[in-house]
Amino acid sequence: MVLEKKGILIVVSGFSGAGKGTIMKELLKRHPNVYALSISATTRKPRVGEQDGVDYFFKTKEEFEQMIENGDLIEYAQYVGNYYGTPKPYVDKQLEAGKDVILEIEIQGAFEVKEKFPQTVLLFVTPPSAQILEKRLVGRGTEDRKTIAQRLSRAAEEVEKMDHYDYLIINDDLEKCVKKVHQILRDEHLRISRNQAAINQIRQELQEFSKGEYGI
Ligand code: ADP
Ligand code: 5GP
Repeated sequence: MVLEKKGILIVVSGFSGAGKGTIMKELLKRHPNVYALSISATTRKPRVGEQDGVDYFFKTKEEFEQMIENGDLIEYAQYVGNYYGTPKPYVDKQLEAGKDVILEIEIQGAFEVKEKFPQTVLLFVTPPSAQILEKRLVGRGTEDRKTIAQRLSRAAEEVEKMDHYDYLIINDDLEKCVKKVHQILRDEHLRISRNQAAINQIRQELQEFSKGEYGI
């Protein structure tokens, strides 16, 4: 029986500072032939150490709006004063090549993707508590106090929409969390709805048995 070869589309969302980036980086390091991480375009300024074309495609507002107009993005959204969006060509190419493509995106974009591609798996990453979330955001040291406060207030809005997601990923122990995510995504490949060709094959073989074509 041959399972579907095409990759699956995975959306990972979660409060800023929950550990999405850390988990995905680790997942890709361990399974580079299984997963591909989509690189988003954004108008946000690069953080120290972030590289154009690696972490994001850093764009001006005008360049980003041109991408929207050209239909180059699968989805896009505004988040705390900046545009973020997913360029289409890379995602299509990787899915065709059989890779599972991960979009690490916020909640509005996640729903847009789910609407366009209903088979998308939606994961929501949360820390074990709000206190730990604040500690991680402050500890990361990449945003000032004002931006951290804005991101925490955005988290309070996002929590209201968590129940539209498929899986809750609690990022307490990183090692356990990475293994859990990998297992969930392996299991997703076995969904009946993703494997219609394999089901048709066995259906046909069984029909041939019942017609006596196997000579039993
Ligand atoms: P996000 O991508 O969700 O905004 P990051 O991956 O940047 O979050 O993680 C935020 C901070 O929390 C980083 O400093 C990271 O090293 C730390 N972190 C991530 N996962 C864990 C974990 N399981 N335990 C402790 N610290 C963590
Ligand atoms: P950050 O500025 O911390 O890198 O990202 C801020 C938020 O934007 C995060 O929730 C992140 O997941 C989200 N994000 C990153 N890329 C995209 C994208 O292409 N589309 C959407 N909708 N959100 C994105």
